[in-house]
Amino acid sequence: MHCPFCNFADSSVKDSRTDSSGLSVRRRRVCLSCGAKFTTFEKVRLRKCIVVKRSGNRREFDKSKIYRSISIAVRKRNIFDDKINELVDKIEAEIESKNLGEISSKQIGELIMRELKFIDEVSYVRFASVYKHFNSAKDFTDFIKNALRD
Ligand SMILES: [Zn+2]
Repeated sequence: MHCPFCNFADSSVKDSRTDSSGLSVRRRRVCLSCGAKFTTFEKVRLRKCIVVKRSGNRREFDKSKIYRSISIAVRKRNIFDDKINELVDKIEAEIESKNLGEISSKQIGELIMRELKFIDEVSYVRFASVYKHFNSAKDFTDFIKNALRD
């Protein structure tokens, strides 16, 4: 980063501060030639993933929606916020690592189900009942029979 005053190529960092989101850093710099002070910002830039819904509508990926559907599924199951956030982060990281331009809401649902199955069966079945639009008790029993098989 060249000094904006004298164009010298080197500066030293006096102070670095990460903002509350953890996604950007502000650095106070001093030019090693003229001693001028200036500030630089560093930001994480992720490729934005688009979620394609069942209806065909497209929305930008929003992890708060994953958080919400998981917290509904785990209600009163003694699964705390930390755990939910851990799951959300894990799912988000997996989606990011695939580096797809688009992902279907169905694929996201499958990822959530896979994680819930591992953590709590009741939450897993609850989530599935919403996600797969169960209409009757038979839908539940059929699903559970299949789920227990694998
Ligand atoms: Zn300078």
